[in-house]
Amino acid sequence: MMTDNIFLKISEGKIPASIVYEDDRCLAFRDINPQAPVHVLIIPRRVIATHADIVKPEDRDLLGRLQLVAVQLAKKLGLTDGYRLVVNCKERAGQTVPHLHIHLLGGRDMAWPPG
Ligand code: AMP
Repeated sequence: MMTDNIFLKISEGKIPASIVYEDDRCLAFRDINPQAPVHVLIIPRRVIATHADIVKPEDRDLLGRLQLVAVQLAKKLGLTDGYRLVVNCKERAGQTVPHLHIHLLGGRDMAWPPG
């Protein structure tokens, strides 16, 4: 996993991204290396390194908000036939950026099981 938190820099406006949604607690932007016609990353502004670091009771509200943003973006981006949400947690699942992010993927058929 990278040590540099590039998503924090995007959240702080220090590096550019194609932002599709933002509010005071979360942000969504297009993946730089899209794996589907629609590939958006939804992140909290607060740094939570991995899914396994969601431990505080107050994180519940933040997680709920990220999921709500995912639903709203899926609608806004026209994913009426379905979509997939993915969270890669730590190295073995392929996480590369140490800042919790939900992948929203859609616009093509998806295989199961995932690789
Ligand atoms: P993961 O492998 O689950 O950690 O996903 C990290 C994702 O971040 C990958 O799909 C990358 O293509 C994406 N990514 C890395 N750098 C950027 C960036 N600067 N802007 C947008 N997406 C990025």
